[in-house]
Amino acid sequence: MPDIRPTVGSSALVLNATYEPLCVVSVRRATILVLTGKAVGVSDGDGILHSARHELPIPSVIRLSRYVKVPYRTHVGLSRRAIFARDGWRCAYCRGPAETIDHVFPRSRGGLHAWDNVVAACAKCNHSKSDRTPAELGWRLPTPPAAPKGLAWRVLGHRTPDPRWADWLDLPTAAAAEAA
Ligand SMILES: [Zn+2]
Repeated sequence: MPDIRPTVGSSALVLNATYEPLCVVSVRRATILVLTGKAVGVSDGDGILHSARHELPIPSVIRLSRYVKVPYRTHVGLSRRAIFARDGWRCAYCRGPAETIDHVFPRSRGGLHAWDNVVAACAKCNHSKSDRTPAELGWRLPTPPAAPKGLAWRVLGHRTPDPRWADWLDLPTAAAAEAA
């Protein structure tokens, strides 16, 4: 294994041999894939990596030299951060900044901790809602909650994308610029 000194905690996007985005790995892992010939650099990040024997631009996007068959992952892990990211850090009820997770159909009444029953909520709405359903309060959800879908979610999860990856992940350029 090449001797690569640890660098800044940035990451690189990995494309399959067919240019289909696969996953995100650490820059260190991406560099090793390039140096061992398992991948080639597609676009460079900022800076140069130095090791005892090599100098290499920090990879931002790499492409695997050989096609790998990857089981299609449809499930996005349910986590607090992922719920906030899906809902844009906004309260589902009043659109204010969200700081809590609300179970739409309350857990105390058998509601599940699942993508279609959780929303980001502000503390005030969450508190006034208590163990009632939105219908009981005359509240409306703008859209029924659902598991996030799409290429970017599959590859990134709740990670903030590097703007250099936008083209590969079909991300709107403005959002990518905002994330920078
Ligand atoms: Zn609210």
